Amino acid sequence: MRPTILYPLFAPLTGLPGVGPRIAPLLARAAGGEAVADLLWHLPTACIDRSARPRVADTVDGAVATLTLEVLRHEPAPRGSRSPYRVHCADSSGEIALVFFHAREDYLRAQLPEGATRLVSGKVERFRDSPQISHPDYIAPLDKADTIPAVEPLYGLTAGLTQKTVGKAMRGALERLPDLPEWNDPHLIRREGWPAWRAALETLHRPAEASACAPLAPARRRLAFDELLAAQLALSLVRAKARARPGIPLPGGGDVGARIEAALPFSLTGAQRRAVAEIHADMAQPVRMLRLLQGDVGSGKTAVALLAMARAVDSGAQAAFMAPTDLLARQHYASIAPLAEAAGVRTVLLTGRDKGAERAAALEAIASGVAGIAIGTHALFQDDVNFDRLGLAIVDEQHRFGVRQRLMLSDKGQQTDLLVMTATPIPRTLMLAAYGDMDVSRLDERPPGRKPIDTRLVALNRLPEVVEAVRRATAAGRQAYWVCPRVEDAEDVPLTSVEERGAALAQAFGADAVGVIHGRMKGPERDATMQDFLDGRTRVLVATTVIEVGVDVPNASIIIVEHAERFGLAQLHQLRGRVGRGAEASACLLLYGNLGETAEQRLTTLRDTDDGFVIAEADLKLRGAGELLGTRQSGVPEFRVADLAHHGDLLEIARADARRVLESDPDLTGARGGALRTLLYLFARDAVVATLRSG
Ligand code: ADP
Ligand code: MG
Repeated sequence: MRPTILYPLFAPLTGLPGVGPRIAPLLARAAGGEAVADLLWHLPTACIDRSARPRVADTVDGAVATLTLEVLRHEPAPRGSRSPYRVHCADSSGEIALVFFHAREDYLRAQLPEGATRLVSGKVERFRDSPQISHPDYIAPLDKADTIPAVEPLYGLTAGLTQKTVGKAMRGALERLPDLPEWNDPHLIRREGWPAWRAALETLHRPAEASACAPLAPARRRLAFDELLAAQLALSLVRAKARARPGIPLPGGGDVGARIEAALPFSLTGAQRRAVAEIHADMAQPVRMLRLLQGDVGSGKTAVALLAMARAVDSGAQAAFMAPTDLLARQHYASIAPLAEAAGVRTVLLTGRDKGAERAAALEAIASGVAGIAIGTHALFQDDVNFDRLGLAIVDEQHRFGVRQRLMLSDKGQQTDLLVMTATPIPRTLMLAAYGDMDVSRLDERPPGRKPIDTRLVALNRLPEVVEAVRRATAAGRQAYWVCPRVEDAEDVPLTSVEERGAALAQAFGADAVGVIHGRMKGPERDATMQDFLDGRTRVLVATTVIEVGVDVPNASIIIVEHAERFGLAQLHQLRGRVGRGAEASACLLLYGNLGETAEQRLTTLRDTDDGFVIAEADLKLRGAGELLGTRQSGVPEFRVADLAHHGDLLEIARADARRVLESDPDLTGARGGALRTLLYLFARDAVVATLRSG
């Protein structure tokens, strides 16, 4: 249960000053959550320094200043004209105009009476050589000088929100800050010179100097550390809980593995062989396996998974293979089941979509132990699924699952070995953040015979040529993916939706040749579309990023990504990994609309390398960790305060600290332990705290 001291922080935003039912959702959107705590984590992106008090003659173009001005005269915009309303002001050094568009005269006259002296704060600009401030941020009489903050935090906004609204709500939130017990190691606090939690938030939201908001400022680093520590503690606890139970040794013994390996249409790469050996060695131990299999797209993780599952079966246990999407589960089933069944292993499929008799039969086969291998989505780990003797659980494309699913999974198989697989080439820092310290096997070698993918950047206005090239290629028997950005992204730029693009291409290539697939389609319809493409009935598959993970159609050798500049770099790498799987030389065309400098750099990186690690590192540098791979699918917990590009060093400290704490106080019952529980609750890790013995 969440401690009462935290209640004010988890109260809804609507209790804050100026936040009604209209503002609350906007604020929640900007802050990324609906509670007061979420707002508090919404740290300023910058600070405006208004402390400069120059004379008009000394103002600097483009700089924010606070001026003491006498109001000379109002110059309303002539009726029907587009010119702004001007208020001419001056000090002893010269004149300056205050400029207002869509102004209300009575309001301005009340604020700025002619002959009065006013403090005016805003950005000074030169217009035809004379200084002006358009829409000053603050106007105040001299005796209200204190209403103009010397340093003002600037917040990320969303449409309909203003800085003032956020600032006011934030001040309300700050009033409610409880003093929380210090959960950090006092030595660390002293060494780093960090303020206490509450003081840190106050410093950031009520900065006394502009440098207070910088990423490396002590208050900011402290809060970043808190967040990282909470994450590392949660990871360590999940891991400790998993490790606490003894595993069943799965030493093999049967011949299923050998038969499957012999039936594979290829021989394993050295990297696959090494990974399989590492996994088998872990499985043989009487300790639970917790291993991450990391391999770039197309490195052949599925075969490794299959041989791991075979080892479980060969040891008299069952194996479960969990994929993040229905589509992927079905595809894995289609490729694995024939091999497994040929070796005499009954294999069942279980997804959320399977209902009725089929589902009952699958459940029965799982419960009776008749099924050696179960493939499915997270439906595999729901309450009514009871394995007879689950020995190994494999989670594919692990980054798609959260901590909660991981917990659910370890609850299901009490002593189950766990192998998680990811194609996400995560740099070490992020790896720690996302997984803590799991054992890792890497597939650092591609299956032989892969030809490099010819990647090109093409401006969208050359679309007709691209369509023509695709037409020629498909006529020659090749297949192509055509990826469009998600429709929801269409906020400002008119983006082509998959449907529109699908219709246009159907015109060009013939309706029978084009399939359209996206996340909002019903399952069976999606399967049918996918199957048509897999079987070669359709030649072009127009898709959203639903195809980004795992989909494997070896005959598809061209991928076109529309508005490539809108995708995360590693996400593009994943998408590109859909081709280059067959004998044919493959091509990837990245169509771009508007290309800023960073976007161009990113796409160029992608063009010039196909090494997932290089790409991930580049992405981290260019965009910051939070944005890596596009936040949605990064698998890296989304930190609100910590920015790994700046706070990466803290991650190591947090990890070591979490480990040290749990060694001496595994259930967090000591004095610091109690404070750390509060920290976990503060970061909404309730599920993890619930696993602790009560303290
Ligand atoms: P990923 O690691 O992206 O999940 P997959 O397991 O889907 O990769 O494998 C990609 C493709 O490579 C598949 O078509 C698979 O059959 C093939 N493949 C896997 N291992 C080998 C190998 N050792 N030699 C040749 N082809 C392989
Ligand atoms: Mg895969």
